[in-house]
Amino acid sequence: LEQRLQSLETRIPKKYAEVTFLNYLKKRRILITGGAGFVGSHLVDTLMLQGHDLIVVDNFFTGRKQNVEQWIGHENFELIHHDIVNPLFIEVDQIYHLASPASPPHYMQNPVKTIKTNTLGTINMLGLARRVNATILIASTSEVYGDPDKHPQSESYWGHVNPIGPRACYDEGKRVSETLTYAYAKQENMNVRVARIFNTYGPRMHMNDGRVVSNFILQALQDHEITVYGSGNQTRSFQYVSDLVDGLIALMESNYTLPVNIGNPVEHTINEFATIIKELVGGNSAIKHVAEVEDDPQRRKPDIARAKKYLKWEPKVSLNVGLQKTVNYFKKELKLFRFVHSN
Ligand code: NAD
Ligand code: UDP
Repeated sequence: LEQRLQSLETRIPKKYAEVTFLNYLKKRRILITGGAGFVGSHLVDTLMLQGHDLIVVDNFFTGRKQNVEQWIGHENFELIHHDIVNPLFIEVDQIYHLASPASPPHYMQNPVKTIKTNTLGTINMLGLARRVNATILIASTSEVYGDPDKHPQSESYWGHVNPIGPRACYDEGKRVSETLTYAYAKQENMNVRVARIFNTYGPRMHMNDGRVVSNFILQALQDHEITVYGSGNQTRSFQYVSDLVDGLIALMESNYTLPVNIGNPVEHTINEFATIIKELVGGNSAIKHVAEVEDDPQRRKPDIARAKKYLKWEPKVSLNVGLQKTVNYFKKELKLFRFVHSN
């Protein structure tokens, strides 16, 4: 152990070496499903910097190798191309189960596959957790509340979901995923965590993601029309990805087993949001109203009292700061895209 500390001190400043060394003593083997996606890759960065051993499993449906390429070749990191609809046999202490498309256009592209990923895939991950006695955290969603008739949404609210609408493959998929989790926990005496994640944005969102943050920023950066679906009076509450990562880790490390909302309660209408992005980016984009989408939830804002009480967690990054970082990221992505397509 002394040798390891000394070797760290020769490579990085002493104060970081000591922290890294302490973390080495607390080192865990962690599986992240969907770890090459937007949220997963940020979680990978944080857990790798804490010194854990990581295995990322991804089928690259919406994820990209480039999101985790900074760790390829690191002795603590392994990337496995695998579809979680099929069983997986490995040894780990913790599982962050994030694999599932998250953006409406992506999860609607192949609804049956979305359901399989969230049902069969979750059964496979719960089965793995049971076999190796690992703690498993399920990435659930505010979509379990559907188009809510209660506002803001607390965890005790049961939701208002259309079971046969276009969003059902995702909403009901995640609801079954939660049901499975608690059925396994009760029947098999397992250690489970359920995070209900609200709209999250940040660098590494895919250019074709299709969600409102990336759409509006890319439209504003290219002087295209900013497309507001429907009246634009519907609301969302946006959290920056580093806040989500902190919340997920706090939940995993807690001993709280019921669902917890992880989101930023600052709420905006989509019209306000379009104006915020337009002002931040500048340019000459007009804001255009186009047809509304079916079953679009009209209001969404997390009640985060539970996370504050049990995890001592609350979001830290303001919308302005988070959006500026995201705009800078998309500026670089656009430059790269143009370079690749002009050569
Ligand atoms: P993402 O699409 O960027 O990442 C999902 C990852 O899962 C991708 O890397 C994808 O390739 C992988 N994946 C999908 N199906 C798979 C399968 N069958 N086998 C293996 N890998 C598979 O989405 P994200 O925004 O990073 O979301 C991550 C998780 O968080 C999802 O479970 C999502 O439902 C949940 N969530 C996200 C948000 C958000 O705003 N980003 C909100 C609520 C919930
Ligand atoms: N939206 C929009 N224009 C877009 C993309 C989305 O007006 O180009 C709206 C969408 O109708 C919804 C909100 O923005 O009311 C958030 O949509 P998103 O797809 O980001 O996530 P959701 O919360 O619906 O899963």
